[in-house]
Amino acid sequence: MSDEDKRRPLTKLAQAGRKPEWTGMPGQPGAIVSPPVWRASTILYDDVAHLRKAAGSSTHERLFYGRKGTPTAWSLADALTEMEPGAEGTMLFPSGVAAIACALMAVLKPGDRLLMADSAYDPTRNFCEQTLRGFGIETIYYDPQAVSLDVYLKDGPVRALFLESPGSLTFEVQDIPALTGWAKANGIVTLMDNTWATPLYFPALTHGVDISILACTKYIVGHSDVMMGSATATAQWFGRLRQTAYLFGQMVSPDDAWLAARGLRTLGVRLAQHRDSALAVARWLKDQPGVARVLHPALPDCPGHALWQRDFSGSTGLFGIVLEGGDEAARAALIDGLQHFGVGYSWGGFESLALPVDPARYRSATRWEAEGPVVRLHIGLEDPTDLIADLDAGLTRFRALRDGGRA
Ligand SMILES: *Cc1c(COP(=O)(O)O)cnc(C)c1O
Repeated sequence: MSDEDKRRPLTKLAQAGRKPEWTGMPGQPGAIVSPPVWRASTILYDDVAHLRKAAGSSTHERLFYGRKGTPTAWSLADALTEMEPGAEGTMLFPSGVAAIACALMAVLKPGDRLLMADSAYDPTRNFCEQTLRGFGIETIYYDPQAVSLDVYLKDGPVRALFLESPGSLTFEVQDIPALTGWAKANGIVTLMDNTWATPLYFPALTHGVDISILACTKYIVGHSDVMMGSATATAQWFGRLRQTAYLFGQMVSPDDAWLAARGLRTLGVRLAQHRDSALAVARWLKDQPGVARVLHPALPDCPGHALWQRDFSGSTGLFGIVLEGGDEAARAALIDGLQHFGVGYSWGGFESLALPVDPARYRSATRWEAEGPVVRLHIGLEDPTDLIADLDAGLTRFRALRDGGRA
């Protein structure tokens, strides 16, 4: 494997997960390029002895029963593992939220305390408040920009630290190496929602994270047509993660795994375009009347920009703008007339999206203070010149309504 480790990430994207036993026929020459869709519930055995033998051995990447997957899902999981240096393995889930929930269940037990970034994805918070709390697990929210979390150890031990960087909706960058170093020194397991950067632009495990979680729904799938999540863990945690996923009966359909694997092959070129187009749009927006701030980690004004520059090898297509004044109606006027942006949840597909977001509603340890309402943009693969013209007209509508009819 050490030879393989020298491959650069783009080479891995093209090669990962294509084991000969998944692309060829035993004893026959030739191989197809991509592992096909293996649909299965029942697996047939030669006889009782073989059935018993299968049940008594590890079922990881072995045909056993449909719930344990088939080569289609194993191939995708292996490819995601190869993309994350330091990883032992990856489990797949029917959504990003399912991956977050199961990873947390794998590391926590009743009585434990969990530190959660205050900027975390709001369904992650809901899981903590509505499910973990019921199991006697306490979630403590911390300022994502804090550099020391010692204060939280005063009231008792902490079991797990959850990171999300940049933060959902507000895009603060966390000091991941400092926080994972602190966690290791205190025997705390770290989990990170790495959906924004993906392992391509932020290999989380090499920065000390124990379990790296992706909403594959976003950039891995990349085409807005499949829901999926993944959790990739170090050797220390993968066994627990895998066992918990099995016990919860978590799996993905082979058709979805195949679509996600197809998406993964082009992750490199797609992200490069999302990155460049989003930067072009963000830099233009920064100087527009009506825009108070652009929340984009690659712009020098964004909180944590220096950390982003130090730790990440790229930025992606999702960022926010804080409008200068204006109300709900003025924000809606901006969004509703857009010709090239869809209005809807999710992101990471090839198409652009605009979403009104209200970060203040999902905070407890910090306060969100802003000059006006926030719009989150996902910059797709359209020509950025068209997107800029569209936003230009949108900002004109916004200012007209904000200023009471004066354009
Ligand atoms: C969308 C998203 C998730 C959840 O993924 P689903 O597949 O929609 O369940 C988790 N984290 C982040 C940062 C997301 O944007």
